[in-house]
Amino acid sequence: MSTENGQARGPALRILQLYPEQMNIYGDWGNTLTLQRRAQWAGFEVELLEHEIGGQMPSDVDLVVGGGGQDSGQVAIAPDLRRHGAQLREWAEADVPMLMICGSYQLFGHVFVPAAQDAGSEPLQGISILDVETRGSAQRLIGNLTVRTEQFGEVVGYENHSGLTSLGPDATALGRVAPFGEEDSTAGGNNGADGTEGAISRNVIGTYLHGALLPKNPVLADWLLGKAVLHRTGEDRYRAPEIDESITREARRVAMSRPR
Ligand code: GLN
Repeated sequence: MSTENGQARGPALRILQLYPEQMNIYGDWGNTLTLQRRAQWAGFEVELLEHEIGGQMPSDVDLVVGGGGQDSGQVAIAPDLRRHGAQLREWAEADVPMLMICGSYQLFGHVFVPAAQDAGSEPLQGISILDVETRGSAQRLIGNLTVRTEQFGEVVGYENHSGLTSLGPDATALGRVAPFGEEDSTAGGNNGADGTEGAISRNVIGTYLHGALLPKNPVLADWLLGKAVLHRTGEDRYRAPEIDESITREARRVAMSRPR
């Protein structure tokens, strides 16, 4: 359905999934699938790439995604992620769009200190693409969440994490937790205290929202793909695919109507 004459609108987009074996919980793979499908429906070919522990990073990419994971998974990937930290920081500074969910979000910050009861609280040094720090707590933040953002409107998803994240001076929150009915609007998000959720710096987004996130938030998927096409072609060529989004709207309505 992509283009008038069926020709692809441009060179293939290279989408890189970081550590799909260890960092892929609560349906996070659905983010990669959504990006792939929306790009194809918009007329772009897609090359899906994966990076696992001990592997080589591909030469150039147009979009990087990372999912959530248990503390043990983060312990496993952290040394390898640091080995490739310079490359990932270089891509981030070159405005390559990135979406990091929960455990990956935490390791894109400066440090993640797992909760003692989980992985023995050895601090895991992150790769400092986002100015955030995370400390594991005995209390997990679990539940449905709607986040009000300036750039993407209301973003809806599900969170489940022990890590409490604080934003540094150079970090901008992705948004603020929306109150659910009479519920306290600071419940959940980065730390369950300051009402913020996620972080955004240049084209790098970190968030605690699983689900997967992108199927219920196509505006965010299209923003990421727009930045990816700009990176690949140097032109603002991406246009959201004209598809029936009625199921998306219904899924959002249901997700937003569910209490935490
Ligand atoms: N293991 C991390 C935590 O508990 C991340 C969890 C996740 O990715 N859902 O905070």
